[in-house]
Amino acid sequence: MIACQTELTCLRCGAVTGHTIVYASLYIKYIVCNQCSFKIEKPVTILMKQYIQDLPKRAFALTLRLKGEAMSHPILFALSLPKRMLYKPIELTREFSEVCL
Ligand SMILES: [Zn+2]
Repeated sequence: MIACQTELTCLRCGAVTGHTIVYASLYIKYIVCNQCSFKIEKPVTILMKQYIQDLPKRAFALTLRLKGEAMSHPILFALSLPKRMLYKPIELTREFSEVCL
């Protein structure tokens, strides 16, 4: 997961305070006020629904990107393919676990 810091108006404090925004994959999982710890969390069911809805679009974009790489740099593409085939399922599993847990 990735955490970013920003200034937002806290619903509990009623003032602009530092907040931590935590992302699971591409999605905001929760936002927490650094001052009072008030937390707004997106339900896992909604995160999973967004993730599953976006997967086909991401797969299509990946296909186009791979096609472009294969056409422009075929040898580099062929050399990188075994590593990608190994790591992509691991990456997707990691993303899915971040979204669901
Ligand atoms: Zn607060």
